[in-house]
Amino acid sequence: MGNINTASSVRYLPGVGEKRAATLANMGIYTIRDLLYHFPRAYQHRGDVRLLGEMDDGDTASFILTVASQPRTATLKNRMTLTKFTAVDESGMCNITFFNQNYVSKIFNVGEDYRFWGKLSRKGNTLSLNSPSFEPCVEGKPLPEFFPIYPLSGSLTQKYMAKIIAAALEVAKKDKMPDILPYGIVEEHSIPSLNFCLCAIHNPSSYEMLEAARKRFIWEELYTFALAISMSKNKTKEGNAPVFAKVDMEEFYSVFPFDPTGAQRRVIAEAENDMCNKSGVGMSRLICGDVGSGKTMCAAACMFMAVRNGYQCALMAPTEILATQHYNDLGVIFAKLGIRCELLCGSTTAAQKRVIKKSLKDGSIDCIIGTHALLTKDVEFKAPGLIITDEQHRFGVMQRAALGDKGKGSHILVMSATPIPRTLALIMYGDLSLSYIDEMPPGRKKVSTFTVDESYRERMNGFIEKQSLEGRQTYIVCPAIDSEEDEGLVGLDYDPEKEKNTPKLKNATEYAENLQKLMPKVKVALMHGKMKPKEKDEVMAAFAKGEIDVLVSTTVIEVGVNVPNATLMIVENAERFGLSQLHQLRGRVGRGQHKSWCILVSDTGNPVSAARLEVMTKTNDGLEISKKDLELRGPGDFLPDKSGSARQHGGFSFKVASFCDNTGHLERAFEYAQKTLADDPLLQKIENLPAKALVTGYFGIISNAVN
Ligand code: ADP
Ligand code: MG
Repeated sequence: MGNINTASSVRYLPGVGEKRAATLANMGIYTIRDLLYHFPRAYQHRGDVRLLGEMDDGDTASFILTVASQPRTATLKNRMTLTKFTAVDESGMCNITFFNQNYVSKIFNVGEDYRFWGKLSRKGNTLSLNSPSFEPCVEGKPLPEFFPIYPLSGSLTQKYMAKIIAAALEVAKKDKMPDILPYGIVEEHSIPSLNFCLCAIHNPSSYEMLEAARKRFIWEELYTFALAISMSKNKTKEGNAPVFAKVDMEEFYSVFPFDPTGAQRRVIAEAENDMCNKSGVGMSRLICGDVGSGKTMCAAACMFMAVRNGYQCALMAPTEILATQHYNDLGVIFAKLGIRCELLCGSTTAAQKRVIKKSLKDGSIDCIIGTHALLTKDVEFKAPGLIITDEQHRFGVMQRAALGDKGKGSHILVMSATPIPRTLALIMYGDLSLSYIDEMPPGRKKVSTFTVDESYRERMNGFIEKQSLEGRQTYIVCPAIDSEEDEGLVGLDYDPEKEKNTPKLKNATEYAENLQKLMPKVKVALMHGKMKPKEKDEVMAAFAKGEIDVLVSTTVIEVGVNVPNATLMIVENAERFGLSQLHQLRGRVGRGQHKSWCILVSDTGNPVSAARLEVMTKTNDGLEISKKDLELRGPGDFLPDKSGSARQHGGFSFKVASFCDNTGHLERAFEYAQKTLADDPLLQKIENLPAKALVTGYFGIISNAVN
């Protein structure tokens, strides 16, 4: 392997042929470096050896056992074979069985010690391990403490991945891979060398070692992300957006049924400054404001400015319901101002669509409101001036880029669904300037919020019944139950203390049945994640009509729903929800004239979870809540990764930074990125080339989306 280095194709590794290389390529692994950065998704802590006697039925664990009988193979009816032997430790005996793996009978001999890993079954006094993993115990050759579990694809196995990664680590040892981190970060946080960290993340021998390695890769991800975002921000500064002239806003305000709040006025002025900026650098602004803070009015004000300047504008919402709502609200107001406005959605008929598209193109429409149907190629504007997206977090960077491309050189305004603190905005919208609507329109009611534990259940049930008999309605939200496939694995974020303190999940179906039995006079209904959208709509509609008193639901109730008669929100296993999510849920009640309550039920023994829930009882301010949430959970939870759609961030995906628990890290990464770019804006210096290669990858993804 003389000339091979980490930039070489994986084909150069022993055991990687054309077919396997293709499978690896499907996972985004082309080079040896890519393979080295293919980190385990979890670890089996095999060094944590247990005694047979101390484990329960169904426990997955590691055991060191001595083979006590010679393996025997029997052929079963369906031509399957069963190989069986017994093995012991000081606490007891266990049957070990393997199906269709005759060869194991030649491996195990009486008196030999093996380390087994598997799920123990206990039937009466009989213990067995079915098809466990095993490693021989050999004097002077210690077994690894942790066993990595890799994300796989196609016919790849864990064993195979471990083997080729070991070969890749050998290559890395000889080839000094450049460190992308600036020396400042390395020194400031005592980050170990790249090679050490690569070995440690694949084969850690202790939690401390894993922690040290993870720290490096967190910084690598945060720093490259910060560079990419900062560079794209610099890039948009070149824009050639139209320069608007100031217009008389009193005409606009006079047709609105209410006066703008001070915060709305300020935000509108900030947007006006951007759009009237003589430099021609377009507006790229995010409006952050709590639910109900009045973002729509700000959007409408900007649309008014664009139209009075002779330009067209688009307002895009994530769902048809929300788009239609905007159209109904704004259409009336725009009509009074002589502004021509249309709605374009998936359900608009083909004939209507044709007419609307034609009028957009010839300039006879001023404003278009719609869903991402607006993103299709044949939607063209005569004079695009302003593109607004509402509830942006549901769109990825790529969709936003595609939308920006629709109105090349137009102003961009984004409105967040929930207020987000600056640090978080940096993560999600680092390329945008920020405006906060930090004041609510007058007359909003506070929802009284309590956290309770199981001991309160009877009283709570009484309260539900009382509310129902008074004609009010209740939402009860239970978390969806996760799959159990990762049993026995130690996740990267494994915390044994946390495990102990995790309360059992409520099963929504049983919950609803029990509640109904308990209160026969109350109408209880269930809405769960596996129902078809149409069924969910029906249940929701029945609840809105008051035909249901108590709605037990596993899914987060749609943001759009408005049932003013609902006065009680109960969240079970509240520790499972993010604070912003809880805030959103709480926002479903307190919409009518009746006093409303939110009860968070949790038996969590975890002090951090308890502290998070406490926050909810202290404030109704969405921004305050998301600041606390960020502080308590760390920014990692909010970073995009491949699995969580909530974390979708266009082309970005984070492997380890999601474990970052320090908000300051991200801000620091941005400071370092700025420092690097101030000195070398295009990353052309030798020491910045490795980082540039990664950043270019990000840009590639984004600009592909635009074309
Ligand atoms: P969001 O920020 O959640 O998009 P909306 O723009 O939908 O909020 O406004 C929420 C409600 O508050 C709407 O019914 C709207 O008419 C009302 N509203 C907005 N601004 C004001 C204001 N300045 N004074 C009174 N009511 C307002
Ligand atoms: Mg809104």
